[in-house]
Amino acid sequence: MATGFFWDEKTFWHTGGNYAMTQPVGGLVQPLSAGGLPESPETKRRLKNLMDVTGLTTDLDVRTAPMATSDDLLRVHPASYLDAFKALSDAGGGELGQRTPFATGGYEIAALSAGLSVAAIDAVLTGALDNAYALSRPPGHHCLPDFPNGFCLLNNIAIAIEAAQSKGMASKVAVLDWDVHHGNGTEAIYYNRDDILTISIHQENNYPIDSGAVTDRGVGAGEGFNINIPIPAGTGHEGYLRAFDRIVRPAITDFAPDIIIVACGFDASVLDPLSQTLATAETFRELTLRTKILAENICGGKLVLVHEGGYSEVYVPFCGHATLEALSDSTVSAPDPYEASFRKRQPNPRFEAFIASEIDQMARDFGF
Ligand SMILES: [Zn+2]
Repeated sequence: MATGFFWDEKTFWHTGGNYAMTQPVGGLVQPLSAGGLPESPETKRRLKNLMDVTGLTTDLDVRTAPMATSDDLLRVHPASYLDAFKALSDAGGGELGQRTPFATGGYEIAALSAGLSVAAIDAVLTGALDNAYALSRPPGHHCLPDFPNGFCLLNNIAIAIEAAQSKGMASKVAVLDWDVHHGNGTEAIYYNRDDILTISIHQENNYPIDSGAVTDRGVGAGEGFNINIPIPAGTGHEGYLRAFDRIVRPAITDFAPDIIIVACGFDASVLDPLSQTLATAETFRELTLRTKILAENICGGKLVLVHEGGYSEVYVPFCGHATLEALSDSTVSAPDPYEASFRKRQPNPRFEAFIASEIDQMARDFGF
């Protein structure tokens, strides 16, 4: 059993403008002492550091990858956008969308981030690895073909899917997005296609606002191949697992993909500053285990997790460690020091019943 872990220090050097969380500084918004966007390198670097300290890294096949090629990028993004991105990156950096500032060299770092996803999915589809994790940064799931947003500059997962399809390595792909925000970019790219099943579990009315409705099912040939599961603020461990059991598992089983790709954000966690959901490290461990079993049952275990959001510097490392333990069957553990207190913060039985009824209603609407 070999689990790949694709990362590159250079992706941690991507940096944006002078923000205080999601607001540009200025006016009444004072710069933060440790300022910048919440999409900082620290969440990712601290995950890798924790893995190094516990020894989990030594149980993984640690690799880097080349930048995604121009051909790879052009399958998803128009030349007009890529040319503008490259020119502004060479000229010192700037902003081409919404909350996606970048500095000099941002283009090459984004292409490297996509390249990590391409290599991870390639290695799993060829059988060189059983499964893999790509620590891609910047993230990708919000990025539209010609409009970067939500910290995402290139759609890493779509670029990797298209690269694999162009080589005839996969025809049907299921994308499960458990980042707490709606995977609007991936949804848009595949909205009219029936060969890519897109599923997004996200906090309703978070980001993007007015995106990710349960009624948005796809168009044309893609009708029925997009599934949105908007969950209420306050959903915790049990709600996430219920959404998986009642909707995700039957949907992916019916679809019978060649590979499952997870848009793996850790921003549904209790401590995340950009959400109001209550997932814990155990939630991510359990979601990973269930997805892994599902992949073993329907597509020979072919499973790749691609890193998306997650903005708690202290908690992302524990969520990520639990995820990679589950993915790799490693016995190296990083006991979650917050687990006891976070278990007490889960919804009370009355609210849990409400969340369950919401999810069950969606499942019935989807025909499960
Ligand atoms: Zn997110």
